[in-house]
Amino acid sequence: MLKKGLIVSGLFLAVMANLAFIGEAPKKKTKPAATIKTVIIDPGHGGIDPGAKGLISTEAVVALEISLRFGKLLQETFPDLKIIYTRTTNTLPGNLNNVQQALRYRADLANKSKADLFISIHLNATGQKAGGWYAKRIIGHKPKVVYVGKGKRRKKKTITEPIYESYWVENKRVGTETYVWAADRTDEKQDFIEETETGENVEDTLNVLDLNSPEAKIRAQLYTKYFFKNSAQLAYLVEEEFKATGRQSYGVKQRNNKGIWVLQATGMPSILVETGFITNKQEEEYLNSENGQVEVAGNILEAFKKYKSALETPKNSGNTAPKPANGKK
Ligand SMILES: [Zn+2]
Repeated sequence: MLKKGLIVSGLFLAVMANLAFIGEAPKKKTKPAATIKTVIIDPGHGGIDPGAKGLISTEAVVALEISLRFGKLLQETFPDLKIIYTRTTNTLPGNLNNVQQALRYRADLANKSKADLFISIHLNATGQKAGGWYAKRIIGHKPKVVYVGKGKRRKKKTITEPIYESYWVENKRVGTETYVWAADRTDEKQDFIEETETGENVEDTLNVLDLNSPEAKIRAQLYTKYFFKNSAQLAYLVEEEFKATGRQSYGVKQRNNKGIWVLQATGMPSILVETGFITNKQEEEYLNSENGQVEVAGNILEAFKKYKSALETPKNSGNTAPKPANGKK
C-alpha cells in the first residue's frame, strides 16, 4: 500500500510540475506564456515486437525511420528544444524483451524527463493480408450430369454447377489517424473526435497494464482535466497537415484500451499518430520512401509548430490555436 501511495504522490508531483507548462494555473493578467522545453518521440514497437507487417517492411522499422527524421527536423527548427527518443535502434525501449514492460519504460522515461509532450509514431494495419489476397467468386453455371437413387431406381439427372473464378482482392485501405486517450467525462470530449473500433492492440495476459488500478484511475482523471484538450488540439493539427498534403485522413480518434495505454501513463499531453497503412502496397512504399518519410515528418513538424506557437502565446492576446471550423455533422 505504501508503494501505491508513493506512486500516486509521485504522479501528482510529476503532474504539478507539468502544469506550469500547460497553462492551467489560475488565470492572472500577467500570466507568463507556457513553453515547451522537452519532447518525447516514441517510435512504436521495436525488436521482438515488429508491430504490423507489410510486404517489404515492418511497422517497428518504418516508425523508427519516420521518428528519427521527425526528431531531426524538429531539432533543426528548434535548436533549444530537448528531444528524447524512447528508442533509436530497432530494439524495444530500454533493451527490454517484454512488450508491456517496454510500454511502462516509455511512460516512465517521459515522466522522469518531465517532458511537455509525448508523440508516439506508428503505422496502421487492416488485420488482413498485406497487399491483398486471392478470393473466389461465381462467374456462371454449367450443367453437370449426376446419378441419383440406387439399383433399378438409379437415374441420370442434370444439375447446374457454379463456375468459380479466382480473383485478386487488393488491400485498399489507406490513410492516417491520430489517437488521444478518451476523456473520462463526456463533457470533456470534443465533437470533432470520432470513436473507433480499429487501431493499436497489445497482448497483456499478465495484466501489467491494469486500467482499473487506483493509479490508472487517477491518471485518467488527471489526463481528462489537464491534458486532454491539448492532446486533442495537437492531434487535430497533425491530421489537418496530412489532409493538406492530400492524404486520406480519418481524423482524431479516441480510445481507452490497452493498445494506447501509454497515452494515459504519461503525465503530459500525448498523441499516437498512425502515419498510414503498411498493409496497402502503395502506402507502404510511400512510407518506406525518403520522400514519404520526409513528408510525414514535415507534416508532424508543421502541426507541432502551430501547437507550440498557440501554447506559447499568452491567452489574453486573443491569438489562440486554430480550431475546427465546425463540429461533426
Ligand atoms: Zn503500432
